[in-house]
Amino acid sequence: MPETIVKIDKLVKRYKELVAVDHLSLEIKEGEVFGLLGPNGSGKTTTINCLLSLLSFDKGDISIFGKPMSPTAYDIKSNIGVVMQNVAVFEELTVRENIDYFCGLYIKDKEKRRKLVNEAIAFTGLEEFEKFHPKKLSGGLLRRLNIACGIAHKPRLIIFDEPTVAVDPQSRNKILEGIIELNKQGATVIYTSHYMEEVEQICSKIAIMDKGRLITQGTLDELRSNVTCSEKITVGVRDADESILDEIRELDHVFEATLENGELVVKCSGGKHNVVRLLTLLQEQNIHIGKVTSEQPTLNTVFLELTGKELRDKN
Ligand code: ADP
Ligand code: MG
Repeated sequence: MPETIVKIDKLVKRYKELVAVDHLSLEIKEGEVFGLLGPNGSGKTTTINCLLSLLSFDKGDISIFGKPMSPTAYDIKSNIGVVMQNVAVFEELTVRENIDYFCGLYIKDKEKRRKLVNEAIAFTGLEEFEKFHPKKLSGGLLRRLNIACGIAHKPRLIIFDEPTVAVDPQSRNKILEGIIELNKQGATVIYTSHYMEEVEQICSKIAIMDKGRLITQGTLDELRSNVTCSEKITVGVRDADESILDEIRELDHVFEATLENGELVVKCSGGKHNVVRLLTLLQEQNIHIGKVTSEQPTLNTVFLELTGKELRDKN
């Protein structure tokens, strides 16, 4: 069994009357890329700040690496890397000096630190810019500097809070690839985002939050299996008429079938061989089969079914 890296138990954080985090419990295991997904204002950053003891909270328990977290738990903190939502670097220091400063908070040995800073610069592709001051860097490069500052000391747990907001697609892909690479090198990662595509792409475990509450959690497959429509199959059919629909609706797992403009749309609730069963039926009926697609639900479908709202298009 992988070790538990983070355990949050019934965390409650209020800002006056507003309950920003509402009895949230999460467990994050060694080696996971754990996605915390939720619309803006759902309590992701507040949760991270409580986790890091940067913010006091009203109720609940938090332990990291099996020990209780506290503002003075420096042995725990030295094994955590943080890349916050807002870029936080020193304007008067160069790229290299910034990374060296943050790394120096944890690594006192100069020679060891020089090696780690070099590795962080290479990892984030900032070699050409190491003598630049932050104000000379583009948004994407600034994000990369922010990441280099957070990871240079090679922490066991790395927390990324919306690292791709307002980042161009190229830098965004670089950041996501970098996170996967850090995970491969052994880091456990917590990744918050309101972009479900990113979370689907890189996270091995996902927790969805809304209004401070945990709505659901699991692997992507587990979350998908909880929604009613777990597969949507479309088939181009030239010569079918509506009489086929009744037979399709009799198939196992099918709960909806429609035919419009020569396109058959069949929604299924689980099951592994829905496409095969459907195509076999069409073949038996001598129906000409055109383009076939099978779509699995996205996290948006999951969010929509559980909350009645769209996760997409929130900024
Ligand atoms: P997210 O990171 O998911 O966008 P936040 O944790 O930033 O969400 O915010 C959760 C809720 O708490 C929001 O309603 C936000 O307006 C509120 N909030 C966040 N920080 C503060 C603060 N310092 N004082 C008062 N309310 C806050
Ligand atoms: Mg936030």
